[in-house]
This record gives sequence, C-alpha cells and structure tokens, in this order.
Amino acid sequence: MNPLCRYALSLILLGAAVDVAAEETALARELDRWTAANASGLESVYKELHAHPELSFQEEATGERLARALREGGFEVTTHVGGFGVVGVLRNGEGPTVMIRTDMDALPVKEATGLAYASEAVAEDSEGSSVPVMHACGHDVHMTIFTGVAAAAAELNAHWNGTLVLIAQPAEEWGAGAGAMLRDGLFERFPLPDYVLALHVTPALRAGSLGYTRGYAFANVDSVDIAVRGIGGHGAYPNTAIDPVVVASRIVVALQTIASREVSPSDPVVVTVGRIQGGTKRNIIPDEVRLELTVRTYSPDTRAKVLDSIERIARGVAVSAGVPDELLPVVERKEDAIPALYNDPGLVDAVIGELRNFFPAEDFEELEPTMGGEDFAQYGATEHDIPAFLFRVGVNSFDESQPAQSLHSPYFAPEYAPAIRTGVTAMMLSLAYLTATAPSFAAGED
Ligand SMILES: [Zn+2]
Ligand SMILES: [Zn+2]
Repeated sequence: MNPLCRYALSLILLGAAVDVAAEETALARELDRWTAANASGLESVYKELHAHPELSFQEEATGERLARALREGGFEVTTHVGGFGVVGVLRNGEGPTVMIRTDMDALPVKEATGLAYASEAVAEDSEGSSVPVMHACGHDVHMTIFTGVAAAAAELNAHWNGTLVLIAQPAEEWGAGAGAMLRDGLFERFPLPDYVLALHVTPALRAGSLGYTRGYAFANVDSVDIAVRGIGGHGAYPNTAIDPVVVASRIVVALQTIASREVSPSDPVVVTVGRIQGGTKRNIIPDEVRLELTVRTYSPDTRAKVLDSIERIARGVAVSAGVPDELLPVVERKEDAIPALYNDPGLVDAVIGELRNFFPAEDFEELEPTMGGEDFAQYGATEHDIPAFLFRVGVNSFDESQPAQSLHSPYFAPEYAPAIRTGVTAMMLSLAYLTATAPSFAAGED
C-alpha cells in the first residue's frame, strides 16, 4: 500500500472509531434520560414480579408477563420453549446477534422482610407439598432489567444494529432450565447468537456497582450417588456381617483426600457428602447405606479425574473391608450436571473496557471465582463455542438497620432501583458496542 493510501485508510478507520465513540456517548446520554423517565414504571414491574413469585418449572404467569413486555417492544415472541421459557427476537438491520438471558424462577422460602410488597405466595412443589415461595435470589431484579432492555432496545433502536434475542429461562435454581431450552431448539429455531450475556445480582457489592470475573467464574457441578452395600445382621454379632455403615464412614473420610492429595493445591475442588442414609434400628446392621455427593471443579480434566477418583476410592475401601465382588459399591453420576461457567476473557475485556467509559472507576470490582453453579454456562458450552459473559450487579445498601444481606435468605431485600438502572444501562451499552464493533475472540481458555 502506498503511503497516501495508508494515510487515507487510517483517516477512515480513525473516523469510524470517532463515530462509534460519539454514537455511544449519545446513547449513554439517551439512557440517562430513559432510565430516569422509566424509573417508576420499572419499580412497579419489580414490585409486581416480587409479589408473584413462581417455583422452578412453574413459571407460567411470569413467562406470560415477560412475553407481554416483549410484544410491547415489537419483538417476535415464542412461548413454551423448554417449559415456560420465552424467546423474543428483535431484528434491527444488518449486524451481529446478541442474546441476553434472564432467569424467572423463585425459591421455596417464606419471606420475612416485612416489606409492603412482600410475597405471600404458596405453591405445590414437585413432591406435592405446599410451600411458601419467594424471589430470594433476585431473579425478579433480573426480569425487571430484562423488560427495561426490551423497551429501551425498541425505543432507542437508532443506536444499535443487528439482532437482539432476549430469553427468559425457567428453572435456574434447579440448574435445568438452560438445558431444557437448548434441547427445545433454542439455537436451531431462533437466530444463533454471536455473543451471550446475562447478569446476576450480588449482595457482595454496593447497589448499582458492577462485578466481573475473567475465565472460570462458577464451577462444574456434578451430583454423584454411592450405594455402599454390605451383609446385614444383628448389631451384637458384627463378625457375622459386613457392616456398610463402617464402610460408608471410611469412604466419606477417604474422599477428603481427593482435594487434599490428588489435585494441585491451586486447582479448587470440593467433594461434599451432603446426605448419608442407612439402617432402621440401633441393633440391626443394615445391608446398604446411601451417600449423596455434590462435586465442584473448574476444568474438564480435573472434573474427569475427580469423578474417577470417587469411584476408585469407593471400590477400594469396600475391597479393603472384605466386601465381596458382587456387592462392591454402585457409583452413579446423576444427569443434572452443570458445566463450569467460563466468562470468555476477550468478551469480558471488551464489555468491561467499554463500560468503563461510562461508569466511574469505583463502580467496578473484579471478583474471585466461586464454587457455586450457574446454568447460564450451558449457552457457552455448546459445539458453537459462543463467547459468554455473566456479570454481577450489586444490590447491597450497606444499611446497618437492614437484616442479613444474603441470596436465598428469607430477609433478602435488594436495593433494587440502582441495580435496575445499572443493569439496563450496562446491557444496552454492551448491545450497542458489540453490534457496532463485532469483536471476535479466540475460542477456548486463555
Ligand atoms: Zn439462587
Ligand atoms: Zn439466582
């Protein structure tokens, strides 16, 4: 390229960059105005959703409410995707496709906040028991932001180009809704996203501030059941039996050596036996004890190794106790596994870098990964290798007079207004930035 051409090209590129920046500043101003003008409307949506929570896979009315918000924004709406899941598609010219997900479900918790709009809902759970229901995980805040993004994306459509896919997902608390929507054709029946985004509130941060984790943010979650079998008998004559209570106890202790002895100390692993059940009476040696485990890891290699170790240890301990071959423990991996949530570092840097132009520096905090699970991970874990990013929005007022600020607590009372404003603004700025610049990232881990 001759120098003149290069000069001309650099002017064009510079011009394009200046245009994008000017456009985003204009959008940021519009969003300030829009969020102020719509604050009381969004507050009513929040209180309405908060007062009418529904359990996982029962989100029928909630799905309808969100479908209505999407229709009002001119989205093409499909309901009943993977249960009561809702998909809205808004086409706005040429450009990349961005998918934003909210979750919809609430928890079997009896609300104790004493707020005027507190939930009094009661529902029948999957086992047929009547239980109180509460939005104790902030999914009502996520949904309010979702309705705000639906309306703002439609109204401010001059500020972005491309396709916006908004999905309302059932059953996040069961780690099952994302898989249900994917199996029901989310990525086949609707535009395939180039980027997927979500947010989750956190009481760890000041209301309205933003948290992010590059790379692994949530863990692989595996459920494993172990049936420890023995030979039952009279409690007074243990020599005539093989006691599965003793074998199971040794297995529980031996499993603790996986994290401490078999995996690198810098690679976090959790093996928790949350339930142990066996026997009927103090003087009867039972013939079976059941263990229920939750297993948390990050990388696929570590996950495979830990699951293999559990099986090896269970069998090895039983062999050492003299359990005959035909009665060795049966180790079963349940099908509800959730993959680790991997926030694509390129996408995190792009989005957070962009948001730093509009939020003050003290509004950002880089957060440690957790061993919790989040089924949003499923959208980034398909064969399509779509870069995914779930960021956190603070809801803590740090007001001493407020009781415990903890997710899943009956006292959970998020400081919702700043979180809703930040959520709508951050999602809209990300949408505009990603559709204007279409950044591409190398797939996989960094
Ligand atoms: Zn939760
Ligand atoms: Zn949640």
